[in-house]
Amino acid sequence: MASLSLKPGREKSLLRRHPWIFSGAVENVNGNPALGETIDLLSSKGEFLARGAYSPYSQIRARVWTFDEEQVDEGFMRKRIVSALRGREWLTIVSDTDAFRLIHAESDGLPGLIVDRYGDVLVLQSLSAGSELWKQQIADILAEQTGLKTIYERSDAEVRKLEGLDSQVGSLRGSDLKLPLVIREFGLRFKVDLQRGHKTGFYLDQRPNRKRLRDMAADREVLDCFCYTGGFTVNALNGGAKSVVAVDSSTEALKLAAENLALNAHHTRIVEWIGGDVFKVLRKFRDEGRTFDMIILDPPKFAQTAAQAQKASRGYKDINRLAFLLLRPGGLLFTFSCSGGVDASLFQKIVASAALDARVEVQIVGMMTQGSDHPVALQFPEGAYLKGLNCLVR
Ligand code: SAH
Repeated sequence: MASLSLKPGREKSLLRRHPWIFSGAVENVNGNPALGETIDLLSSKGEFLARGAYSPYSQIRARVWTFDEEQVDEGFMRKRIVSALRGREWLTIVSDTDAFRLIHAESDGLPGLIVDRYGDVLVLQSLSAGSELWKQQIADILAEQTGLKTIYERSDAEVRKLEGLDSQVGSLRGSDLKLPLVIREFGLRFKVDLQRGHKTGFYLDQRPNRKRLRDMAADREVLDCFCYTGGFTVNALNGGAKSVVAVDSSTEALKLAAENLALNAHHTRIVEWIGGDVFKVLRKFRDEGRTFDMIILDPPKFAQTAAQAQKASRGYKDINRLAFLLLRPGGLLFTFSCSGGVDASLFQKIVASAALDARVEVQIVGMMTQGSDHPVALQFPEGAYLKGLNCLVR
C-alpha cells in the first residue's frame, strides 16, 4: 500500500483524531497513489497513524477513513453507513418530516460524503476524491440498507474543483424521479428542486430554526432576507405573522417560494416578494424609514475558507447593522452564518459590533445551529458550520 509520511511534530492532529492532513504537514509520498486511493498515513518515524484517501490536488492532502489498521473495503463502507443510519433512529425527526440528512460526511466517519433523504428519494453528494472513488459501492449499500430504489447525484459543488473532480449530476440508481418532489416538515409542505436547487435541494439544516421562528412569529411584521424557496416565510405566516416581505436575488427561487406559499394555503396578499440584492434593499428600507418586528438574515456562505474570513466579516457586519436599524424595540433578529471560516465566537463578535454601530441594546435569546440530523463529531469542530443568533432588540 502506498503511504504518506508526515513532517516531524505534525502528527498531533491525527493523534487527536482530526480527519484532515494538510499539504504543509506532508514530508513525502511513498509509492504513486492515484486520486482517492487508500494510503497509510505515517509519522515521521514511520509509525502507523491512520488510513485515508489521497487527494493530490487539494490542500487537504488526505482524509482519514480509519485510525485502525483495518481494511478499507466494501465491508468497511457498509459498517460506516449502517452506523450513520442507526445514529438517526433515535431522532424524532422521522415523525416531523420525511426529509433529513442520513450521512453528514466527516462527522459520520465518511469524509466528503453527504446523503440526504427526500421522501423516497436519496440524494448523494460526493465532495472528495475518496468518496468519489467509492461512490458506486456506496450507492449499492445505500440501496440495500434503506430499501430505496432511487438515488440521484448532486455532485456539482464548487469545492469538487479543489479535489480535481468535475461536476456529476444525474440519476445514480433507478430512474423514476417523480418531480416536483414535495416534502413535509412540521405539518407544512415544500416543493424541492432536487435537480437544480441549492445544496441537495433544500436547506434541511435550518429545520429547527424555521420551527423556532414560527413559534415566535404571531402578529409580527416580518422581513425575510435571502428567502430562497420560502422556508422561513411560509413558517412565519403559519405562525400568524401579520405580513412578510421576502427578498432574494434568484428569480427561480422566488418562483418556487410563491408555489410553496400556495401549497400551504396562506394568504398570498400579505406577502411582498422582492427580487433584488439584500444589501441594496436594506439600505433602501433604512432611507425610507421602514421598520419590522422580525428580520431573518440567512445569507449564502460569504467565506469558503479562513483566509476569506475578513472580507466575509465586513459583509456580515453590514447586513446585521442595517437589520438592527430596521427593527422596532422588542423586535427579533434571526441571524445566521454558514461560512466555515467564521466560527461561532467570531460571528457573535461581528453581530455585537453591528449592534454597537447601530446604537441598539441587544440580548441573545437563543443560540441556533444545524438540526441534529447534521451531527458534529467531537474531534471535528469544522462540522459545526451553521451558526445562528436569535437577538432581541430592547
Ligand atoms: N433561508 C433559506 C436559505 C437561504 S440560501 C431557507 O431556509 O431555505 C441563500 C439565498 O440567498 C439564495 O436563495 C440566494 O439566491 C440568495 N442570495 C445570494 N446573494 C444574495 C444577495 N446579495 N441578495 C439577495 N439574495 C441573495
